Amino acid sequence: MNTVDKYNFAGKKAIVRVDLNVPLDGSFNISDETRIKAIIPTVKKILSDGGSAILMSHLGRPKNGPETKFSLKHIVSKLSEVFGVNVKFANDCIGQEAKDLTSNLQAGEVLLLENLRFHKEEKEGDIGFAKKLADLGADVYVNDAFGTAHRAHASTSVIAQFFTEKMTGYVMTAELETADKVLNHPIRPFTAIMGGAKISDKILIIEQLLDKVDNLIIGGGMSYTFVKALGGEIGQSLCENDKLDYALEIMEKAKEKGVNLILPDDTLCGNDFSNDSDTLLVKRGHIPAEWEGMDIGPETRKSFAEIIKASKTIIWNGPMGVSEFSKFAQGTIDIAYAVKDATKNGAFSLIGGGDSAAAVNNLGFGDDVSYISTGGGALLEYMEGKTLPGVAAIQA
Ligand code: AMP
Repeated sequence: MNTVDKYNFAGKKAIVRVDLNVPLDGSFNISDETRIKAIIPTVKKILSDGGSAILMSHLGRPKNGPETKFSLKHIVSKLSEVFGVNVKFANDCIGQEAKDLTSNLQAGEVLLLENLRFHKEEKEGDIGFAKKLADLGADVYVNDAFGTAHRAHASTSVIAQFFTEKMTGYVMTAELETADKVLNHPIRPFTAIMGGAKISDKILIIEQLLDKVDNLIIGGGMSYTFVKALGGEIGQSLCENDKLDYALEIMEKAKEKGVNLILPDDTLCGNDFSNDSDTLLVKRGHIPAEWEGMDIGPETRKSFAEIIKASKTIIWNGPMGVSEFSKFAQGTIDIAYAVKDATKNGAFSLIGGGDSAAAVNNLGFGDDVSYISTGGGALLEYMEGKTLPGVAAIQA
C-alpha cells in the first residue's frame, strides 16, 4: 500500500480527503476535536516536506445544497491554530474560486474546501463531480478519512482514478494496520466484547470473530436475543425474534470452535426507558413481564472484568447497556476500566468507535487504551472481511 510516509511532497500540491465531520454546538464551537487532532500528522508531513495541502471533507448531513450550519468555514480558525498556518478557505469545493486558490497555493500553505456534501453528487459517487475535484490542480491524492472508507463516494474513492500518485494518510494507515494486527496476529487470550442494540448489525463480524477469539463477551441490547433463545424470560427487553435460531447457531458454533461465549449473569432492569426509571436487579432470564434489561448487573460487571483483565488482545465494540442514561451506564464504565487495566498489564486494546469510544474518552482513558478507531462502521466492515472502496481505490 502506498502511504504518505514513503512519499516526498516537496513542490507538490496534495488533495487530501480528511474527516472533519466534527460535532459543533449551537455557537459553532467544536465540542470534540478528536478528528481534527487525528489529521495533524498527515498535514504536517506534507507541509514539512515542502508541499501544500488542499483539504476536503463532509460535515453533517446537508439535504439540499449549502446550509450555513454545515459550513466548514466554522472550523477554519481551529485548523489555523493546530497547523500553525493561516488556513485559506474556498466557498465551494469545486469551481473557479477553488481552482484559483489551488493554483496560487504556495509550499507550506493549506486550503480548506467547503463541505463536499453541499453537492449531492458527492454521495452518489458521481464521476463528473470527482473529475472536477481532481481538476482543481492537485498533483497527488491522499485519503486519510477512514471513517468514510466504506463508502464509494466521489471524494473517497472515485476521484482516485484521476491520479497516478495516490496514497493513504497516517490515520488510514494506522487504522488498517491495527485491525490487521488484532485479527491476524493476536496475542492470546484474545477477547472480543460485543454490545450495542442489535445482533443483526453485527452478524458478519461475530461470525468472523468466532474463528479468531478465545472469549466472546456479549452484552448490551443484543444479549437478550441470546437469553430468550435459551428459554429465558426477557420481559420488554430488546429482542430480534427473527434471530433466535441464529443466536442458537452462534452458541453452537462457539462450542464447536472452543470459543468461550459469555452472556450476562445478572441484569439491571428498568420499567421506563429513561434515566428516571425505577430499577430492579434480576438473574439472567428472569426479567418480569413489565420490565426491560437496561444494563449488565454487578456480578456480570465483575466476571466480564476478570476475563478482560486476563486477556492479551481485546477488541470492544458497543455499550453494555443504555449508557446514555447515567443510571444504566455502570456496566459500560466498568468495561472501560477493565480494558484500561488490561492495557496497563500489557494487553493490546482496540476500541471500535461509537459509544465504546465515547465511554473511554469521557472517562479520560483515551491514552490508556492502545487504539481508538475513528471509524466504527468502516472498522466493522473491514473486520467482516469486506473490501473498503476507499482502500481499493488507492490500490488500483
Ligand atoms: P450500536 O449502535 O449497535 O452499538 O448500539 C448502541 C445503542 O445501543 C445505544 O444507543 C444504547 O442505548 C443501545 N443499547 C445498549 N444496550 C441496550 C439495552 N439493554 N436496551 C436498549 N438499548 C440498548
